Amino acid sequence: MTMNAPTTAGGNDAAACHGERADELRAAAQAAGNAPLLSKLATDYPRGPHDQPQTMCPAFGSLRVGLRMRRTATILCGSACCVYGLSFTSHFYGARRTVGYVPFSSETLVTGKLFEDIREAVYQLANPAEHDAIVVINLCVPTASGVPLDLLPKEIDGVRIIGIDVPGFGVPTHAEAKDVLTAAMLRYARNEIEAGPVARPRGALPEGPKIALLGEMFPADPVVAGRLLAPMGLGVAPQLPCREWRDLYAALDSDVACAVHPFYTASVREFRAAGRPVVGSGPVGYEGTAAWLDAVGAAAGVTAAQIDAAKAAALPAIRAALDANPIKARVTVSGYEGSELLVARLLVEAGAEVPYVGTATPRTEWNEADRDWLAARGVHVQFRAALEQDVAAMREVKPDLALGTTPLVQAAKEIGIPALYFTNMVSARPLFGAAGVSALAGIVAAQTRDPSRFARMVDFFAPLAAKPKAVPVAAPTKAVRGDLADAIGN
Ligand code: SF4
Repeated sequence: MTMNAPTTAGGNDAAACHGERADELRAAAQAAGNAPLLSKLATDYPRGPHDQPQTMCPAFGSLRVGLRMRRTATILCGSACCVYGLSFTSHFYGARRTVGYVPFSSETLVTGKLFEDIREAVYQLANPAEHDAIVVINLCVPTASGVPLDLLPKEIDGVRIIGIDVPGFGVPTHAEAKDVLTAAMLRYARNEIEAGPVARPRGALPEGPKIALLGEMFPADPVVAGRLLAPMGLGVAPQLPCREWRDLYAALDSDVACAVHPFYTASVREFRAAGRPVVGSGPVGYEGTAAWLDAVGAAAGVTAAQIDAAKAAALPAIRAALDANPIKARVTVSGYEGSELLVARLLVEAGAEVPYVGTATPRTEWNEADRDWLAARGVHVQFRAALEQDVAAMREVKPDLALGTTPLVQAAKEIGIPALYFTNMVSARPLFGAAGVSALAGIVAAQTRDPSRFARMVDFFAPLAAKPKAVPVAAPTKAVRGDLADAIGN
């Protein structure tokens, strides 16, 4: 078997992430027979209004989903520099799991030996005592070269083999790459269900009809969702992306899927193929929770009285939390997680002024209701937001607090605007129900408490910023450390 080889096969192709090099790899992938794959990716993950938001390597999303599953081995196939970056990032985020790697050279790529190497690696790893599944991820160059992961065996000694292509020139964000792997696993699990009996979930599940939540959430949020749904006689199935293969069966066995994160397009397709209705958004704030209970209740076919009972049980506490935690601040929101619109809704309900929301994820039917709600309240919603758009919005509206990505936070702090990293601070707290109200209000209150401290920090660094050249930096004296601590308020 021989394959097309992009010109820098096996070398440092980090430039493949953007611009002409991405176009070149895309053309190579088409020539290698991967045109249908690229067409499907373009349909599931549409670009625009511009090409691609700044993002970490998209494949990180798939890698993370695989690494977080028990008894699942994950193998990367791509250029060494890409694999180094991906494995570094995964361990930075606490993977505590080995990242498999099948290296290649131009020769093994062109001759097809690379595919044989991948196949051999899969056979070596396929020990049913250790693994339920092995995930193989083609990065940019192997995808552009048409390395045919679909020719790998579907299972070896009962170990499932899942091969996916996650090229940076086809999958816009690492968020959507989570969907690529989740959907591939759902498809496999759905076929298994159709073929015969499958394993039960490890833990006990609530009796009766259940809702499957789509999206990585703070661990308390699915629990809160379960409490909100209980008066309707509904429970929560294992959420997706899941932690174990058998959870896929339980999620597919749910009665309604809820695309809390709105970019799980391919996963939604699997739920629909299984005959499950799908609703969007999530239970955030008073109006958001009411609308979500209405939508989920209707999709699950429960009575109007049951929906009213669920609302009566949940909404007064949320109203009380909103009244007790008013947010009096102007806040901009930027991120790449898919929950940005939900966070903005909650901020607005709590009284914040939110002039701008930017998300790297696309506009889909699952965030349409949230977009409409925000637009009706004067919020500008930017899908596929570029860093430049996020920064320009932040500079223009001069918020009391900017929630955003690392470079956005850096840009805000440079001009003395309090800012917080969305992923580490906002996504690491509850969002649903009354707990979400107080958690978010607490973040905003803590960061906007004393805006002058950022002005003091800017003043402190101003002399350094004015120097034209870098100067040797000596260890700060005790006196300077004290001044800095004063300046930033620590
Ligand atoms: S695999 Fe990731 S890091 Fe490597 S070239 Fe592609 S998008 Fe860039």
